[in-house]
Amino acid sequence: MTRPARVRIDLIALRNNLSIARELAGETKLMAVIKADAYGHGMLEVAQALADADAFAVASIGEGMQLRSSGITQPILVLQGAHRPSQLKQAVASELTLCIHQSGQIEDLQKYQDRWPKLWLKLDTGMGRLGFPPADLDTLLNILGENCESIMMHFANADVPDDSRNAAQLLAFRPAMDRSGYALSAANSAALLAMPDARLDWARPGVMLYGVSPFESPQPSVAELQPVMTLTAPLIAINHHQRGDQIGYAGSYTCPEPMPVGVIAIGYGDGYPRHAVAGTPILVNGIECPLIGRVSMDMLTVDLQDCPDVELGTEITLWGKGLPVERVAKKAGTIGYELLCSVGAHCGRVY
Ligand SMILES: *Cc1c(COP(=O)(O)O)cnc(C)c1O
Repeated sequence: MTRPARVRIDLIALRNNLSIARELAGETKLMAVIKADAYGHGMLEVAQALADADAFAVASIGEGMQLRSSGITQPILVLQGAHRPSQLKQAVASELTLCIHQSGQIEDLQKYQDRWPKLWLKLDTGMGRLGFPPADLDTLLNILGENCESIMMHFANADVPDDSRNAAQLLAFRPAMDRSGYALSAANSAALLAMPDARLDWARPGVMLYGVSPFESPQPSVAELQPVMTLTAPLIAINHHQRGDQIGYAGSYTCPEPMPVGVIAIGYGDGYPRHAVAGTPILVNGIECPLIGRVSMDMLTVDLQDCPDVELGTEITLWGKGLPVERVAKKAGTIGYELLCSVGAHCGRVY
């Protein structure tokens, strides 16, 4: 990677977050969700570091095959299942477990003459995305037979723990809970943290493993999580501006008084959100300084009034240790998940 921005991944923090999940989960098994290149942290490195996870979940067959060819031996669930009949063979060869969420996938299975892959049946209890209606459960289980190990659902509002729709979704999952012989799975990070009734046999934590709160508002239950990704970039200029000077494209910031303005070598080309507003916190030598002006492609500008002694070349923290990504995300009108994924794809990672 030739860009100056650096992503540091703390695998000890990652394992620590898994053990926090483990403590909460008790008897519940943990399927670590490592889709989207492990939320931008690097799928293979994360899978190897999380050797204690009971299983992994990815979005696509290709990701599962890649994990297998790197020697990962835990069960791997493919959350979107097979998109094409030809993928069934690949799934069986790589011993991937497939989510079954729509009838076309069942038709493909019925035409498939060889041994079927292991299956997890997905019900839509209110998420309105993937899954069958709970009323079809008996029929589906009959068709899938002993290849079906587990029944799963996904919450739409777990990030707001007291939203009444969470309980309604769990109630709609009742037909699955009343069946014996199938493992049950509902909880993402937020439900694992906040909804003990939803833990069931398998929880599927993603974002909490990366040390990021899944909740919309602050919650004490996430206090122990440690951020895994820290994003830094060097300070490449310090300019002393006069009152009235405008900073950056469109002159969206006007200096209210004489002030030092730092230029940091990171921008939206690296995955830093272009929509981050003036005032977004940036950590300069441990002190929070506000972003000012528009984020450019490879640079952004920061008000250094609170940190006048910082030197050129200093590595500045955009998020991570000391500055939760959730706070930056909020200022950019998005969620931590999105920032982790976009930066992870652009910048060189150091483990
Ligand atoms: C992404 C995903 C998860 C993990 O969600 P987090 O909020 O990151 O914990 C769990 N289950 C399914 C089906 C998912 O798509």
